[in-house]
Amino acid sequence: MLRRNTKQKQIVFETALRLDHPTATEVYEEVHKDHPTLGRATVFRVLKSFAAEGKLRKVILFDSGEIYDKTLDGHCHFRCTKCGKIVDVKVSMAEAERKVMEETGSAVVSSAVEFFGVCRECKGKEIS
Ligand SMILES: [Zn+2]
Ligand SMILES: [Zn+2]
Repeated sequence: MLRRNTKQKQIVFETALRLDHPTATEVYEEVHKDHPTLGRATVFRVLKSFAAEGKLRKVILFDSGEIYDKTLDGHCHFRCTKCGKIVDVKVSMAEAERKVMEETGSAVVSSAVEFFGVCRECKGKEIS
C-alpha cells in the first residue's frame, strides 16, 4: 500500500514538473492518459500535499485560478493575452512590498504580481 502511494506521488510530481504552470485539473488529465486508475481526488490531494511540503508552489493567477509552479523562489508572471502562455519573470518585489508596508502599516508576507501583454511569438505573427 505504501509502495503504491509512493509511486502515485512520484507520477503526479513528475507530471506537474513536466507541464508548465498547470492547474490541478491539467495535471489530472495528463496523468489520466497513462494511468487511468489514478483518480482525480488522489491527484488533487497529492498536489496539495506537495504544496504544503514546499515541493511545488501553489499560485493563484488572475482569472485562471490555482496553478502549481515548479519554480519555488518568489517570482512574477508574464501572461500572453493571445496564446495564454505563462512565463516566469525574476523581478524583485522587495521595493513594492516595502512601500505597501510603509503605506498601510501592514506586514506583507507574500505577493503575487502578473504582467499582461503579447509574447514575442505572438507579436511576430501579428507583423507577418
Ligand atoms: Zn503569445
Ligand atoms: Zn511561475
